[in-house]
Amino acid sequence: MLLALILLVLLPVSAWAQAPRMPEPEQSRPWAVYFAPDAGAQAVVEAIGRARKSVRVQTVALTSPPIAEALVEAHQRGVSVEVIVNGKVPKGRVAAAPSLARAGIAVLSDRAHAPVGGMAVIDRQVVLTGAFSFAAGPDNASAENLLVISDAGLAARYTENWQAHAAHSVRPSGH
Ligand SMILES: [Zn+2]
Repeated sequence: MLLALILLVLLPVSAWAQAPRMPEPEQSRPWAVYFAPDAGAQAVVEAIGRARKSVRVQTVALTSPPIAEALVEAHQRGVSVEVIVNGKVPKGRVAAAPSLARAGIAVLSDRAHAPVGGMAVIDRQVVLTGAFSFAAGPDNASAENLLVISDAGLAARYTENWQAHAAHSVRPSGH
């Protein structure tokens, strides 16, 4: 009897412990959160790596080499990639998104608004937001957080807002 009771108590715990871990937000739950310096930029890179159709980004500057690389790779495998950067970033040593423009990605310049942090919408389904920067460097110095949410309705709202900024942004010629 006592043994049966012990088994009854232990069973749910062991079943929970053996449940497979699925960190992908699309699989287990509709969101995931990451805190820099541990996982933020890597999570952005992985989310972009899963893009199949489109990536829309809005950020002050996109100078993080791994994130820029992931966007270039997505562009090269046929994903539609468009990035809005803040056109007020002074053109000096570091352009707002140097490697993207070189790779042929449309980099739009919004001179009216500077976003706080960055955001991205992937495949009109996944939203990346939070106090997170797409710029190089701050990963090991700032307490950033990145929230990844898989929700088509939310993605539509973010896409709408992205398009509103794109409408008054300067497009590079040819895009
Ligand atoms: Zn704007």
